[in-house]
Amino acid sequence: MSKKIVVLGAGTGGTIVANNLRRHLPADWEITIIDRDDDHLYQPGLLFVPFGLSSTKKLVKSRKKYIIPGINFVIDEITRIDPEKQQVTTKNHTFNYDFLVISTGCRIAPEENDGLLDTWNKTAFSFYYLDAAEQLRKKLKEFDGGKIVMNVAELPFKCPVAPIEFVFLTDWYLKSRGIRNKCEIEYVTPLPGAFTKPKASAVFTESAKEKNVKITTGFELNMVNGKEKYIESVQGDKVNYDLLVIVPTTIGDKVISDSGIDDGIGYVPTHHNTLKALKHERIYVIGDATNVPTSKAGSVAHYEADVVVFNIMAEIHGVKPEEIYDGHSTCFIVYSKGTSSLIDFNYRIEPLPGKYPMPKLGPFTLLHETKMNWYGKLGFEPLYWNVLLAGRHLGAPPTLVMAGKHVG
Ligand SMILES: Cc1cc2nc3c(=O)[nH]c(=O)nc-3n(C[C@H](O)[C@H](O)[C@H](O)COP(=O)(O)OP(=O)(O)OC[C@H]3O[C@@H](n4cnc5c(N)ncnc54)[C@H](O)[C@@H]3O)c2cc1C
Repeated sequence: MSKKIVVLGAGTGGTIVANNLRRHLPADWEITIIDRDDDHLYQPGLLFVPFGLSSTKKLVKSRKKYIIPGINFVIDEITRIDPEKQQVTTKNHTFNYDFLVISTGCRIAPEENDGLLDTWNKTAFSFYYLDAAEQLRKKLKEFDGGKIVMNVAELPFKCPVAPIEFVFLTDWYLKSRGIRNKCEIEYVTPLPGAFTKPKASAVFTESAKEKNVKITTGFELNMVNGKEKYIESVQGDKVNYDLLVIVPTTIGDKVISDSGIDDGIGYVPTHHNTLKALKHERIYVIGDATNVPTSKAGSVAHYEADVVVFNIMAEIHGVKPEEIYDGHSTCFIVYSKGTSSLIDFNYRIEPLPGKYPMPKLGPFTLLHETKMNWYGKLGFEPLYWNVLLAGRHLGAPPTLVMAGKHVG
């Protein structure tokens, strides 16, 4: 009888895991990957769309093309996960599994924020999915002065550097249009600083000062008033805006909560180091669907994929899963069209200055704005499609490497 692995979600994490498992396992292991559609979106590219630096067409490709032969790709809505029966239900089928990988990601839920939907794409915009990014591009193009507020509604949210990149790029964009002196930019966040890690926060705050971007911290969104154009915090503080750009409340996929395997906000309680579901045997979790305390980022899903594949292989061979994953995350932070910074960190080690990936040589510079980092950001897109999704890596381990980093 064949043995079965089912992967839920064919985004960044799911595609890498399925491809990697296919390479490692003999043909009597059946691998199935399920997603609701065939449109793989390169999400980091969404940041560029509002500024006309990328187009929505360029960012979507067929998932099928990136799933290697020997894997069943099923297009269907996943409706239920039953860990007791080791069974997954979709709208049209039922799948039994020996091992399950949950990689259903997370989604923004503007309906969770009071007043937001009343003014969605009127005074409040986003760039976290394709159509939203396109609407914002049109709005920014006709913007001729006033106050732009970038707000994050609630923690956790996807790609914690994206809102910082957005305000920095807004500064560049308004300057390039010659209207920066007629505009104010403010970043309003529930975090105690510009970013989740204090040392990097201090660096980003200094850069924001140089760009005349105001940062308001500790602001927990209570409601959006689109008529009078302000946002109000739970504590009653108000911030006025002319154009609001928002990352609404972010939650895990409905199937996770509907199946009763979530932590209350749609994420699967996951072992921080083995990436195994805490309450269920034979289930691993990867990427944005986990509740592990690191960034919800594609780099994280990529590093985690190596660990999940390793541990599933270990279990297949009757060995206990290993506590390998250390929260490793790597992110470019675009400063303007032409410059970018880069951070590399894990659960314990904050972003540090230095060179990456090779000590002394780089070519990338950590925690510092350079042109080479910008080329790295641009180069990442073809690397993503042609190398990383296939489940290949560049010889680097999934965990943080200290070589090249300056401590102290
Ligand atoms: C604006 C923006 C900028 C970003 N920039 C960066 C960056 O610069 N660097 C970086 O590392 N990361 C970045 N990210 C984050 C990165 O894209 C995500 O963290 C990454 O894609 C997560 O991978 P995942 O596999 O967990 O989820 P996803 O790639 O989102 O895949 C989840 C998949 O599951 C499917 N799915 C979910 N539920 C169901 C269901 N019920 N039935 C069927 N299918 C389902 C979805 O259709 C989707 O394809 C950015 C994200 C955004 C929005």
